[in-house]
Amino acid sequence: MTQASSTQNLQADSRDHVLPPFTDYQALNAKGARVITKGDGIYIWDSEGHKILDGMAGLWCVNVGYGRQELVDAAAKQMQELPFYNLFFQTTHVPAIELAKEIASIAPEGMHKVFFTGSGSESNDTVLRMVRHFWACQGKPEKKWIISRLNGYHGSTVAGASLGGMKPMHEQGDLPIPYIDHIPQPYWFGEGGNMTPDEFGVWAAEQLDKKIQEIGADNVAAFIAEPIQGAGGVIIPPATYWPTIKKVLAKYDILLVVDEVICGFGRTGEWFGSQYFDLKPDLMPVAKGMTSGYLPMGAVLVGDRVAKVLTEQGGEFYHGFTYSGHPVAAAVALENLRILKNEHIVTQVKEKTAPYLQKKWAELADHPLVGEARTTGLLGALELVKDKQSRERFPGGNTGMRCREHCFNNGLVMRAVGDTMIISPPLVITCEQIDELVALARKALDATW
Ligand code: PLP
Repeated sequence: MTQASSTQNLQADSRDHVLPPFTDYQALNAKGARVITKGDGIYIWDSEGHKILDGMAGLWCVNVGYGRQELVDAAAKQMQELPFYNLFFQTTHVPAIELAKEIASIAPEGMHKVFFTGSGSESNDTVLRMVRHFWACQGKPEKKWIISRLNGYHGSTVAGASLGGMKPMHEQGDLPIPYIDHIPQPYWFGEGGNMTPDEFGVWAAEQLDKKIQEIGADNVAAFIAEPIQGAGGVIIPPATYWPTIKKVLAKYDILLVVDEVICGFGRTGEWFGSQYFDLKPDLMPVAKGMTSGYLPMGAVLVGDRVAKVLTEQGGEFYHGFTYSGHPVAAAVALENLRILKNEHIVTQVKEKTAPYLQKKWAELADHPLVGEARTTGLLGALELVKDKQSRERFPGGNTGMRCREHCFNNGLVMRAVGDTMIISPPLVITCEQIDELVALARKALDATW
């Protein structure tokens, strides 16, 4: 069978039997999905043998790159020893204990405990139940509102999609669930109007204060936010945003939940985005980079204040998942952390590759299509516009999709969020590979123009 006909057979079987997530099924039926067959380092290959630079690290997760034998060996060893046991009902196992201890050693100050989950969405479901339980334990069950942000992303389960601020997700299935409200996002390029970025950062953060007053501080349990919005379009908040949010939170007794599912485990050049922005979270949902995506796993890191109430006043926490702390995933996560540490990957991002990406990415701003080129750590975005001055977009709203197609057909995965192109490459990318990524991005911009 030729490569092309084998691909066609796979596409037909996929169309007949697989309902993939976040996919327009009519569009897929017309075209067929690209079949990815292998990965090595920062590259993936499709079923027709094309080599593609994975500028998204899978889905923001393959941080140590593809094909790491150490992770395969760690999984195989653990599978032989103990493929499954649970953390329910007063039992535990070694990989979960060792992993929790290891994570506590790199976590922001004052976070020593870990609640394991199977994904980022499950982590945010856990957050919702944990913050309400925390306040109820202290005789404040009315403190149950959670404030989040429009266009934030916190997962796809009912709680995750409700906490998130994605309108299309809310429209399917009558979300958000009660006692969740959203404030504007700190997206200066798209929504800043005539304000400077710094003015807009303060304005966006002050919307939190307004919302808390509207709901009543006595009714608000927590504020949840990503350090940098990922799925919303790599929205890097203006420098004034987080300091102003911190000032607002200091006025009220409200928990801070920092969703580190993307920023966690090195993406910003610090272990966590909270350290990058000097935040002191009460809870931190994580996933993705925890195992570099080799196996599904997530967690909620729990700060001392919440942990003390849960462990001293909480009684039973009626919440958890069969695969919470799965031993094979935990063994892989431990090995993944060992690789990150032994190879000094997070330091390398901070000192070498993130500054290099920032410089090279900024050069793309001279392209006639690009209204803004921004990065933090190894996250980047390009705003595609018709008019750089006014930030006006092209009519039709499909410039990003066209650019995405040109990228993919020319050997680069770059994602389109509307007309914002985003990247989040594996953390092991080298400066030479950044040159290659930026050259491929420019080629795609030229083809789109
Ligand atoms: N939170 C953030 C910030 C995310 O980016 C994601 C996924 O992209 C999630 C939560 C949900 O994670 P998962 O897809 O593992 O459920």
